[in-house]
Formats: sequence, structure tokens, C-alpha cells
Amino acid sequence: MKVFFKTYGCQMNIHDSEIMKGLLKEAGHEIVDEIKDSDLVVINTCAVRGKSENKVYSLIGRLKKAGHKVGVTGCVAQGMPEKLSNYGVEFILGTRSISSIVNAVEGLKKIDLEDHILDINSQTPALRDQKKHAWINIIAGCDKFCTYCIVPYTRGRELSRPISDILNEVNLLAKDGYKQITFLGQNVDSYGKDLKDGTSLAKLLELSQAIDGIERLWFLTSYPSDISFDLIRVVGNYPKISKNFHIPAQSGSDRILKKMNRRYTKKEYLEIVEKIKKEVENSSIGGDIIVGFPGESDEDFEETLDLVKKVRYIRLNVAPYSPRPGTVAAKYYKDDVPFNVKKARMSRLNEIQHSIEKELNEVLINKEVEIMIEKTTGKISYGRTIDNRMVAVEGFIPEGEMVKVRIEDFKSGTLYASNGRVSIFA
Ligand code: SF4
Repeated sequence: MKVFFKTYGCQMNIHDSEIMKGLLKEAGHEIVDEIKDSDLVVINTCAVRGKSENKVYSLIGRLKKAGHKVGVTGCVAQGMPEKLSNYGVEFILGTRSISSIVNAVEGLKKIDLEDHILDINSQTPALRDQKKHAWINIIAGCDKFCTYCIVPYTRGRELSRPISDILNEVNLLAKDGYKQITFLGQNVDSYGKDLKDGTSLAKLLELSQAIDGIERLWFLTSYPSDISFDLIRVVGNYPKISKNFHIPAQSGSDRILKKMNRRYTKKEYLEIVEKIKKEVENSSIGGDIIVGFPGESDEDFEETLDLVKKVRYIRLNVAPYSPRPGTVAAKYYKDDVPFNVKKARMSRLNEIQHSIEKELNEVLINKEVEIMIEKTTGKISYGRTIDNRMVAVEGFIPEGEMVKVRIEDFKSGTLYASNGRVSIFA
């Protein structure tokens, strides 16, 4: 069968699609690049915001109207199977049952929301989108239950993969020519805690950086109070490990953090950031903020602005609060911050963030930085510095090449360099 994939949402979803494509290809099916060439469309869905969920229903509606067969996987499939059944889709697979994709596509399984996550390991084929950079899911689920978040309900409880299996996957990828790996988890710092054998993200990074062929290691997403001193030490000690910590704060107000069931205060968050800045040379911090959480007053928002100014994020995702059915916040808190207030707060926050980003990046103009190329259009090639700054370079440079370039400009979140590069392998 010819199958087209449409993937919404986070990197974990992107990688789940890569695994499903790999399994289908191994079973003799074909993955196609255009809907018009397909016999079936698989939509791998995201439910993190109301907007992303609505996009899924609207796409299914349009595809069904045009006569396409549609299968649905991912967070919306896990959370809303009855609603999806009403759309007449071919199959519904939950977040932990992607290993059933072949049976589903072959018409042998209509619905599977069970937990078969242990079916996925280093031997599972994956049809990866990139040739030099690979995603690896190291821990499934999340136990934190932030009051606004649907993820613990759609992706289940935390379950870490054995470290030996992950290291095996890193070795296999290195042998296949992969140079960069990103370890993924909804809460990547929790990795290993459930294994109760001393396994940790710090240990995994330390062992992985020693594998021949691996040049860079990344990890996403960190939960502030779970970042250990050991992790900070390992990141600081090894040049191949990214110096970027993506640590969503969500708010700078202790009152709102408590309502969100985030398990830290503003002071504790800032202490973690200070510790990273002190121990890791040239570190950078990324983050996420939710604006307009129920009950957020002007004073609460001022606390968030203050936090953002103190942290000085290299990159910040700002989103308005939207209630997700089934969460504690949707059940018990009124979505009482008017949309125009959310919008105004977002603009103010973004304005401050843009000026911080400008200051943090303009200091690099006329300086040389080292980047690893991740994609190229032929005319422009894109790479990242070890502290996660995106650099666009004139001309073609092959994916996976590590080059030094001189920065000339900073515009719209991207640094620009001309093609006066010096290959460090030259
Ligand atoms: S840590 Fe909180 S926001 Fe992140 S996935 Fe878990 S419940 Fe959701």
C-alpha cells in the first residue's frame, strides 16, 4: 500500500512517525511524498492545544470529502477515539501502540489504545527524515501532571528505556554515519529514575559522547527541578554535549506556578539557571511561557516579565493559555483572562524577548563560530552552534559537515554568515 504521513506536534511525534514509516517499509509498503499518490493518509496528531486538535478534525474532514482513506495515530487518537470513530476513519492507534501500524494499515486492526511501548527498541526500523541527525526517544510519558497539560493523559506514565538498548541504538546510528543525536523525553531529566539502578541522563550523555563518530549530543525537554548537579557537571565537562538547556518556566509568579502544579518557585528556577551559567561555559537557556493562565493578574504577569529579563533566554516560546478538556485546570479554573489581555501580554513579552535575543546574538557579529550543518537548500545551508543558535550560511555545504563561519548579521532569530567558511576537516 502507498502511505502518506502528515505529522503534527513535537519532536517525539516526528520520531514516532519515522518509526511507523520504518515498520511499514520493512513490511513492503511504500511511503510517498504526496497525498495524491497515496492509497492511505496517516495523521499523527497533537493534542497539546485546542488549535492543534482542531486542525486534525478539519484535515480529516477535507480528506474524507475528497475520498481519501485516513488512519489516525498519536495524542488525539489516544484521547478522543469515540469522536474520531464518528469521522469514519480506517483505524485509530494510541501513543503507545505505534508498533501496531502494519496490522492497522493492512486492515487487521481497527483500534488499538493499549500499551505496547516495549515493542519499540534499538532493533525497530525507522525511516529517518535526516541523514546526519537522529532523534531517540529515551523515556515515554510524564508523571508531573501540570494542571493545564494533557500529556500525562495521552502519553501515559513515565517509562525509561534500558540504557544498554539506547547505547546500542547510538552505536548503530554512528555506524550509519549519523553525527548528531537528540535524546527526547517529555521530561528528559526523569530518565532512569524508574529503572532504580543508578541510570540517569548524565550517565547516558557521558557514555554516548565517547562513541566513535558522534560529534554532538542534545537533550529535550528539561523539567526545572529535576535538573541534577551531575547533569550540569557532565554538560560542562564534555565538548560534544550541547550547552543549551531548554527549561520551560511557564510563569514567573509563585502563585500561578502553584496553580499550575509546577514544583518549583521563581527563586528556585533562577537558582538553577544561575548554577548552569556558573558551571557551563558559554551555556544558553531556552524556555516556554504560558500567558493568561486562569487568575493571572497584572502583578503575576510582571513577575513573569522580571523572570524573562533575569534569565535572558536565547529562545522563548510564548503561548496563550487554552483549556484542554480533561485536565485539572479545565475542570476547576475559569479561563478568565480575556483574549485581548492574553494577546497584549504576549506582545509585551515577545517585544522584551526580541530585544534580549538581539543583544545576545549581535555580540557575535564579526566573530567566528563553529556550526554543524543540518540542512541545505543548495543556495543556503543551515547549522547550529553548540549552544543552539541557528546560523544560515551562503551556498551549499553538505549535511553533517562541521564548519567555522564568520557571523555578519542577525535577523528574525537567525544569524547570517557568508560562505567564507573554513572546514575544520580541511
Ligand atoms: S512536565 Fe508538565 S507540561 Fe511537561 S509534559 Fe509533563 S505534565 Fe505536561
